[in-house]
Amino acid sequence: MDFTLNKYKELLEVLIDKNYNFQTFEKFIQNPKDKVVVLRHDVDRRSINATWLGKIERDLKVKGSYYFRIVPESNDKNVIKEIVSMGHEVGYHYEDLGMAKGNFEKAYENYQSNLEYFRTFYPVTTVCMHGSPENRIDNREIWKKYNYKENGIIAEPYFDVDYDEVFYITDTGRAWNKKSVIIRDKVQTKINIPINSIDHMMDLIKQDKLPNKLIISTHPHRWFNVGGLWFVELIMQNIKNIVKAILVRYRK
Ligand SMILES: [Zn+2]
Repeated sequence: MDFTLNKYKELLEVLIDKNYNFQTFEKFIQNPKDKVVVLRHDVDRRSINATWLGKIERDLKVKGSYYFRIVPESNDKNVIKEIVSMGHEVGYHYEDLGMAKGNFEKAYENYQSNLEYFRTFYPVTTVCMHGSPENRIDNREIWKKYNYKENGIIAEPYFDVDYDEVFYITDTGRAWNKKSVIIRDKVQTKINIPINSIDHMMDLIKQDKLPNKLIISTHPHRWFNVGGLWFVELIMQNIKNIVKAILVRYRK
C-alpha cells in the first residue's frame, strides 16, 4: 500500500542504499551534491503528521525541508519546534496573494510579517508557494510585483531549480506526478518518467533508472500507518481528484 509511514521509510532506505546524498533545499541551493535527493514537505494541514515523517528521517540520519502555512491547520508551534529540534529545515509555505484576494500591497505586507514569524523558530532562507487549488489566484503572481530574493531569501523551488536536470516527483493528488489532478504543482521539464506507485519508484531507483538529482515533494497529511485515517485520506482524495480533474480541464 502507498502513502504509509512504512513505505516512506522503505523509500528512504532505498535512496540511502543507492548512495543518494540528502540535502535540505537550502543546502541544495547553496552547494548541490552530484547525487542528491531533496525531501520537500508541504505541510498543508494535519501538521502532526509532519513530525512522523520528521522522526523517520531523523532516525535514518537524513534531513528534510518542511514548509508551513500561516493558517492554524498547518501552523502549530509545537510541531514547528519539534521539526527544528530534529535538525530539519523550516520554510514558509506562502499563500498571501490568495488570502489578500489579489491585493498586492496587503499581501506583501502579510508575507513579510509571516516570514518574520517563522523566523522566530528557524532562520528561514527558502519559501515555497501553496498551490491553493480552490483559489483562482496563483500565489506566485505576487513576484510579478515584488522580489522574494530580498531580506535573506535565497530560493523558491518553483523558480530556482533546473527541472531538466532535477527530477521532480510530487504526491499531489495522492498519486505520483499525476498530471490530470495537478493544478499548480507542476514544473517545466524534459524528463518524462512515469511513476505508478511508491513500489515502482523504489524499483526505478534500485535499477538506476532515475536521474542523480531528485526533489521528492510530499504532503505529510496523506501519510499514515495503515488504519482508519489512511482510508479516510484515500477516499477523500479520490473525491477531490474528480473535482480537480474537472478544474484542470476547465481552466485550460
Ligand atoms: Zn500546499
